[in-house]
Amino acid sequence: MQRAETDYLITGAGATGLAFADTLVAETDAHVTLVDRHGKPGGHWNDAYSFVTLHQPSAFYGVASMELGSGLKDPVGLNRGMAELASGPEVCSYFDRVMNHRLLASGRVSYHPLSNVVGEDDEGATFESLLSGERTHVRVRRRIVDATYFSPDVPSTHRRGFTVGAGAQVVAPNALPGLWQLAQGGPAPHRFVVLGAGKTAMDACTWLLQAGTPPDAITWVVPRDSWVVNRLSTQNGPEFFEPAIGGQADQMQAFAEAHDIDDLYLRLEACGAMLRIDRARMPTMFHLATLSEAEVEVLRRIRHVVRLGRVTAIDAVGLQLEQGRLAVEPGALHIDCTASAVRHKPPQPVFQGRRIVVQLLRAPLISFSAALSAWVEAHHDDEAHKNRLCTPVPFPRSTAEYVHTVAVNMGNQLRWGQDAAMRQWIRQCRLDAFGRLTAGVDKADAARQAVLARLKAQAQAASANLPRLLAAAGSA
Ligand SMILES: Cc1cc2nc3c(=O)[nH]c(=O)nc-3n(C[C@H](O)[C@H](O)[C@H](O)COP(=O)(O)OP(=O)(O)OC[C@H]3O[C@@H](n4cnc5c(N)ncnc54)[C@H](O)[C@@H]3O)c2cc1C
Repeated sequence: MQRAETDYLITGAGATGLAFADTLVAETDAHVTLVDRHGKPGGHWNDAYSFVTLHQPSAFYGVASMELGSGLKDPVGLNRGMAELASGPEVCSYFDRVMNHRLLASGRVSYHPLSNVVGEDDEGATFESLLSGERTHVRVRRRIVDATYFSPDVPSTHRRGFTVGAGAQVVAPNALPGLWQLAQGGPAPHRFVVLGAGKTAMDACTWLLQAGTPPDAITWVVPRDSWVVNRLSTQNGPEFFEPAIGGQADQMQAFAEAHDIDDLYLRLEACGAMLRIDRARMPTMFHLATLSEAEVEVLRRIRHVVRLGRVTAIDAVGLQLEQGRLAVEPGALHIDCTASAVRHKPPQPVFQGRRIVVQLLRAPLISFSAALSAWVEAHHDDEAHKNRLCTPVPFPRSTAEYVHTVAVNMGNQLRWGQDAAMRQWIRQCRLDAFGRLTAGVDKADAARQAVLARLKAQAQAASANLPRLLAAAGSA
């Protein structure tokens, strides 16, 4: 057994572990050890399909100390005119630079890839190299940080929840750009069955359509319809002040005036905050997936949408679904987008004595939440106060749960605003979507000051209506 020492041992060098480590290194003189079973930094992004992109602008994703992307707007495509969305390979290469140019370059970070954390004890933790099998015990002087709470499942690595019989072809979306290889030995597939209704399935359908697949060649198996965030409302450049900050005020107004959950979403749709693909249906799912209006228009071209629940089995001539059977042309290619990027885990305190469990503190900003947790760890001592500042925000799985998400978001926001040093840090933090946008408004700019005043007033009115919506969410 090898022996080592550190101040903070972080399990997981994905977006969460890296954003936490980056802020800790910037705000303290601590030594940090990162351990991850992946061979490269970036966690699940290493396993993603090649046409994946961020849902959100690159401008506020990653770690606090290093910009992601070049601040450009997309000149073409379905995101045209809006801030660039880093692709999966770009995110991986960014996290590589973070590791080498920021973290390792500080001289205060050790990184152990292809290593599993296999146990914790009173002194620290033990990790094992996947390559040599050698174990190292790390004595931890301050805290053990669990940065694996989110650990989303992705199609290429998840365990399928359905069986696949002989003759059925099922691939992860990672296989789509390489379809020409399937066509080497015979005709390329010309019938596609996309399984799943989340963002990955939306991406796979969009990719197939944009690549030239006729819409009627796609069957889309949708267990639940989903609301999606309108990407226009997430833009954070000054030219997007009205849709972003005015849009926030509109959303707060919807929360202030809604009578129940469906009414809330219809109001959010009416003000342009939310979109749905099929306007004839009332979705029950909301996972904070984000699309542009142009993407939604493209997805509306798919007419063969099957709503018979989840798939349980696939064979050469059809699919067994929870609520019925679907015949499928032999030779169809099934694209498995059923991995659950949102795992349900009950929230727990972030600060637990020797342990820190990094969670969501402002939905949907995972990077910001991790950096903020590290800032609190660096600047506060009292555990109860730290936990008050870092109340975990539940990740929504349904339309009703989103009301809880917003309620906890607002409570955190209120407490942060009462801490002057924290407020100051948040205002300059690149990971905070709108902080710099609102902080940068000129006092003499009457129009924008009016928008800020409206936002404040509507947020107060929304708070007053939250008990009614929470009760409605409870009964939903
Ligand atoms: C397709 C997709 C797009 C997304 N887009 C966005 C977006 O635009 N904006 C946004 O904020 N979020 C987005 N998300 C959410 C995303 O989950 C987070 O942004 C983030 O990447 C999650 O990172 P993580 O570090 O928490 O988890 P992971 O990336 O899963 O990293 C956890 C790491 O822990 C390691 N690990 C686990 N257990 C151990 C152990 N015992 N020992 C050693 N290592 C261990 C794993 O190997 C892994 O590398 C997206 C998610 C998906 C799937």
